[in-house]
Amino acid sequence: MCPQSPDIIVIGSGIGGLCTSALLARYGKRVIVCESHTIPGGAAHSFRRRGFEFDSGPSFYCGLTGTQSLNPLKQVLDSLGESIQVIPYDPLGHYHFPEGDFPVYSNAERYRQEIAKITPQGAKELQQFERRLLGLYEAMKDIPTLALRADWQVILVLLQRYLPSLAKMLPYLTLVQSSVGDVMDATVKDPWVRRLIDLECFLLSGLKAQGTITPEVAFMLGERSRAGVEYPVGGSAAIVNALVRGLERWGGKLRLGCHVEQILVESGKVTGVRLRNGEILSAPIVISNATMWDTYNQLLRPEDLPTAYRQTALQTPAVESFMHLHLGIRAEGLDNLTGHHVVVHDSSEDISKPGNTCMISIPSVWDKNLAPEGHHVVHAYTLEPFAGWVRDDGYEAKKREKAESLYRAVEKIIPDIRGRVVLELIGTPLTHAHYLRRYQGTYGPAIPAGKGMFPSTHTPIQGLYRVGDSTMPGIGVPAVAASGILCANSLVSLSQMAELFK
Ligand SMILES: Cc1cc2nc3c(=O)[nH]c(=O)nc-3n(C[C@H](O)[C@H](O)[C@H](O)COP(=O)(O)OP(=O)(O)OC[C@H]3O[C@@H](n4cnc5c(N)ncnc54)[C@H](O)[C@@H]3O)c2cc1C
Repeated sequence: MCPQSPDIIVIGSGIGGLCTSALLARYGKRVIVCESHTIPGGAAHSFRRRGFEFDSGPSFYCGLTGTQSLNPLKQVLDSLGESIQVIPYDPLGHYHFPEGDFPVYSNAERYRQEIAKITPQGAKELQQFERRLLGLYEAMKDIPTLALRADWQVILVLLQRYLPSLAKMLPYLTLVQSSVGDVMDATVKDPWVRRLIDLECFLLSGLKAQGTITPEVAFMLGERSRAGVEYPVGGSAAIVNALVRGLERWGGKLRLGCHVEQILVESGKVTGVRLRNGEILSAPIVISNATMWDTYNQLLRPEDLPTAYRQTALQTPAVESFMHLHLGIRAEGLDNLTGHHVVVHDSSEDISKPGNTCMISIPSVWDKNLAPEGHHVVHAYTLEPFAGWVRDDGYEAKKREKAESLYRAVEKIIPDIRGRVVLELIGTPLTHAHYLRRYQGTYGPAIPAGKGMFPSTHTPIQGLYRVGDSTMPGIGVPAVAASGILCANSLVSLSQMAELFK
């Protein structure tokens, strides 16, 4: 039971907001999470229609179990005393190019063997590329995210506990700042493998190799090879539910359908929030899990922030939004179906062109309970710009036309898909922006490597912090969990952190 007057208010129950709030509750803080939607989880929320359980976003996870996981989300769950069940699987997916399909294995050696069947020289070059990245991963992996914080005291932690690991990092310091494109240019000439690397970066960050930072891909390659990939039993909702259980177990409170209209600031200090229903909640600390554009444009008055700071933040470019196709389908005869697919329609077009690269996830192949008996649940999505979408007379026709590239992608895996559909939901950037409460339905900031860094959790307003995918370290479930850890740890003493870490 959380008292009326909390220490901390968290705006939003995305994975970033839930990790922050649950950890702070674990540290003994009185925390209230205000979530606008009636379902928690933000981009990772699931929803049910006619017995089908749909993931609205992520479905690709690794390191959710095991005793030595490097996934920051798992480290948060461990601190809360929570766990989830998972189903491991391999290959982690199939890539479908116009010139052919191939399986992608978690294990790096097996992955290279598949590539060698297409381009033996390219497979050798890929090995050089991976060696560079895995060296960085090996150096990074001894410093658990749970031990870090986002202020100067992190230096004390690193010097006291992780000096040997820091020494291991030294040869890789230039790599930490560099783009994956730089590493690729130095190691890979084969055009097919270069496109593959671009694709993997794009799937991870929304940007191709030149725009993606090296540590992100080093971590992804290292972790998927070391820990393998797995899907949570019950879908993404299982992760969200575990975090909510953890939050509540440690005394925190989640209020759903609780839209924050304004962050209240007096004399440069946060004093609380005003809800849409007019209610005022007071607290000396407010943490926003809304995007930077929503936080700075919608939740604060312009005069609350220094003009130049506000302008720079609001000018941050955003990755496009999405078209979604959620299907419930009849499953008869689909015995060898696998769960993850990426379809590139046209090799002569850029992979980041909206509609050209489509991601497909069929999680009921791992967890049958996500669909009624004899059925599967399918989620296909592709990038789509927000601009130009309006709910006018042409909306339904445009929606159907834009869903075509998704249907054609699913046809590569299930040729007679259209005849199997028993439930169809098409989402546009307007749907995405509405249900996720995200500025222009964006995937997150498009901050290319070398052109800037994701902002820290701190803001110029005393008592106001931010977490989630428009803060350090960036987009993706592990990254936003890390942002929650960095924020929560920065709000407690080193001794409290050490106590938890034990
Ligand atoms: C289609 C898709 C597929 C993806 N696939 C993967 C994947 O396979 N693996 C992976 O690791 N990552 C994946 N991602 C990325 C990952 O899901 C996100 O980066 C992450 O979940 C974002 O979490 P967050 O906490 O930053 O923000 P969000 O999830 O956006 O949460 C913010 C929350 O704040 C709430 N909110 C906003 N404004 C207010 C307000 N004024 N008052 C109250 N509440 C408010 C929102 O309702 C929302 O619940 C995917 C994303 C998408 C969209």
